[in-house]
Amino acid sequence: MPELPEVETVRRALVPVMEDRLVETAHIGRPDLRWPLPPRLAERLAGRRFGALRRRGKFLLLPLDGDETMLMHLGMSGSVRIHHSRPDIGKHDHMVLAMGSGDGDGDVAWIVFNDPRRFGWIDLYRGETHPMLADMGPEPLGNSFSVDSLMAALAGRSGPIKTALLNQQIVAGVGNIYACEALFGAGLSPRRKAGTVRGRRAERLVTAIRTVLRRAIEDGGTSLRDHVQPGGEIGYFVQRLSVYGRAGESCHACGRAIRVITQSGRSSFYCPACQR
Ligand SMILES: [Zn+2]
Repeated sequence: MPELPEVETVRRALVPVMEDRLVETAHIGRPDLRWPLPPRLAERLAGRRFGALRRRGKFLLLPLDGDETMLMHLGMSGSVRIHHSRPDIGKHDHMVLAMGSGDGDGDVAWIVFNDPRRFGWIDLYRGETHPMLADMGPEPLGNSFSVDSLMAALAGRSGPIKTALLNQQIVAGVGNIYACEALFGAGLSPRRKAGTVRGRRAERLVTAIRTVLRRAIEDGGTSLRDHVQPGGEIGYFVQRLSVYGRAGESCHACGRAIRVITQSGRSSFYCPACQR
């Protein structure tokens, strides 16, 4: 499931083929994904030019000329491919954009949005922001995320810290994988009451969140450089994980077996010795 680093990797891959480039043709495969798509989306995209690509949490914000922005969410299973020759369109390829320079020089890249489970989403909006982004918490790699802001957001919360980290109003873009990894990095149990994460613990958590996300973005960049062939799926790369998906295997730090519990319907992986 794509989280902040995966979405950021997609954004970086799309910059050279979308920014200041023109939609020569657009194909939309179906009228809805998780929610209905904007009416006549293909016609509305054709002939438009994209500006500087941005990301907010797990959303891609792709501004178009004419004060409109395309919002894109990869959902549970969404991925993006870039082709440099016309691709065959598969069953789960819901959007295909042929991006060109607008000069008719034949330099075209096809961007394919594929999503088998269809929890992804595409929308168009005008103006500053979209309702889906309105209540979103601070970007964890930005200046507004700090020990003080995190402690304020967690104050008085009696639910577990793991569940709080998945709340996009507390911190944007962190999902199940990086919440588990950050708690391991900070030495905090996923069961700890969120409101007790203060002082040194909050400092360790802020540092760990930033560290795991930055490292994963680097890994995504490495995968783009070294491994992604034209037409390869972007946004899924081999993560270097300490606890996530490692139940029963030994902790790299202490050798104890990694455990898994379910919290709010999600698996939490942790080391019972290293995390308190
Ligand atoms: Zn351990």
